[in-house]
Amino acid sequence: MKRIQRAAVIIYASASLLFLSSCSDQSPYSKETFVMGTKAVITIYGLGEKEASEAAGEALHELHRIESVMSNWISESEISMLNGRSKDGPVRVSDELFEIIEAAFEYSRLTSGAFDITARPLVKLWGFQGGEPRLPSSEEIDSTLAIVGYHRVILDRDEMTVTLPPGMQIDLAGIGKGYGVDRCASILKEHGVTSALVNLSGNMFAIGSPKGRDYWSIGIREPHGEEGIVGKLLLRDEGVATSGNYENFIMIDGQKYGHIIDPSTGRTIDHILAVTVVAPSALAADALSTGMFVLGPEAGAAAAAKIPGVKVVYALVDDTFEFTGNFGKSLLLD
Ligand code: ADP
Ligand code: MG
Repeated sequence: MKRIQRAAVIIYASASLLFLSSCSDQSPYSKETFVMGTKAVITIYGLGEKEASEAAGEALHELHRIESVMSNWISESEISMLNGRSKDGPVRVSDELFEIIEAAFEYSRLTSGAFDITARPLVKLWGFQGGEPRLPSSEEIDSTLAIVGYHRVILDRDEMTVTLPPGMQIDLAGIGKGYGVDRCASILKEHGVTSALVNLSGNMFAIGSPKGRDYWSIGIREPHGEEGIVGKLLLRDEGVATSGNYENFIMIDGQKYGHIIDPSTGRTIDHILAVTVVAPSALAADALSTGMFVLGPEAGAAAAAKIPGVKVVYALVDDTFEFTGNFGKSLLLD
């Protein structure tokens, strides 16, 4: 693990990663939509306008479809239906929902339970996702922890059923955007796209490289939530995601609490500013950025070392970075 010191930068901004276009770019085609509570942008090089528009349109449409299946904010979504049936025993679900839950549990195993989509009752207890934010008591945390834990869920692949213990609820917020980005990339490739960037609020997949360049250049946002970037990543045929406390937090008695919760303690994690993960897929990057956030730099580095193609940058509250994995020349920190 490598550690570097940096000066604090104080300015203001929003999404965690951003595509840095350069003036020398031959103008790409780009299309965007508002979905999953945020902005999605697809940038394509090398196709005619009509073909690019069709490809990007189909990909963005897929994000809306995925939202209608996986969003906790939509009461008729399949995930909301499943969450409402935790007392019903085995519930038959679509192949797609089954598979994303199965994939999520794989990332739970790879992160020793730090990434856990069953943490939703804790997320709600703290007042994230609606309700009044408040500091829960230790008793409340303990009783909520009793209904959290991916290993308590029964997945039956033959019957395509999911059995949630009573009271348990699933939250796909930590993996759904990455899944959506990978689906977009697949659709673009089916349309013959060989150079594109899919960007769903900092969850990205880079197909090939922009015309005339070897890599997509991605800026890493200032991790306090201020404006500006603190470094660059060079990507090609890889996914990337950032989990940052500055993007989603609650205030209780003048104190900030970030939205990522340690499923083993039921408490928020406030000693890390942001974690950026580069991985072979956007889904892996999304799930692992949340999981690595919980694990912290030491356990995170150990976990990352066992997963091929995974590279991690931690931005810590003392204004240092720690990074792990074989970045080579693909990471440039200011
Ligand atoms: P984003 O909100 O940008 O999608 P993440 O991908 O890091 O950020 O996902 C964080 C969200 O996942 C939280 O807002 C919460 O809904 C949920 N969550 C919180 N803690 C965990 C956890 N330990 N494992 C899985 N999901 C979590
Ligand atoms: Mg995530």
